[in-house]
Amino acid sequence: MKRLLDGVVKFKDEFLEEHKEIFDEIAEHQDPHTLYIGCSDSRVVPNLITKTMPGELFVIRNIANMVPPYRATNEEFKCTASIIEYAVKKLEVDNIVVCGHSNCGGCKALYYPEEELNKMPNVKEWLKLADEVKTKILAKNLSIEEKEFQTEQLNILKQIENLTTYPCVEEGLKNGKLNVIGWYYVIKTGDVFQYNEEKREFELINSEA
Ligand SMILES: [Zn+2]
Repeated sequence: MKRLLDGVVKFKDEFLEEHKEIFDEIAEHQDPHTLYIGCSDSRVVPNLITKTMPGELFVIRNIANMVPPYRATNEEFKCTASIIEYAVKKLEVDNIVVCGHSNCGGCKALYYPEEELNKMPNVKEWLKLADEVKTKILAKNLSIEEKEFQTEQLNILKQIENLTTYPCVEEGLKNGKLNVIGWYYVIKTGDVFQYNEEKREFELINSEA
């Protein structure tokens, strides 16, 4: 707890002071360029890995960077749908990034035995969003490492597919106002690989890109 409280004070006294002009500018409004959809994992910190400042990223984080497919229902409290809608229609973001990562606990949990998953009924339910990914991966004969990173990468593509079922995203893509980008972040090295749709593979983002 002390660590948290000390951090709050330090942030205000040091970081905010150092970047006062940015905080003055964003105090009354936000104009983020990107909607970032990533995993809740504590090790994958959106602003840190993109070196962006407050005001730049609008963020959704959940277990295994999932995007539930668009549902035209009367169901209340659609969290992801309302964030996507607000980001695209109100904030008019230019980009939507779906960022998966190495060593993803959520992706690993897809393969947990039933009894293990039954202890976390909400997680179990949530992971159904990657059922198709799991089926595809299990159909291949992969080593443990291959299975892990192929699941993580295939899941990014599946969630992008779900994202494009949202009418506002579909429209943004059609009229060229929106870029939808898939990223795979490696915790140990800080490397980020971006999906190249033409080549159908993830490519390392480097200073030449
Ligand atoms: Zn994760």
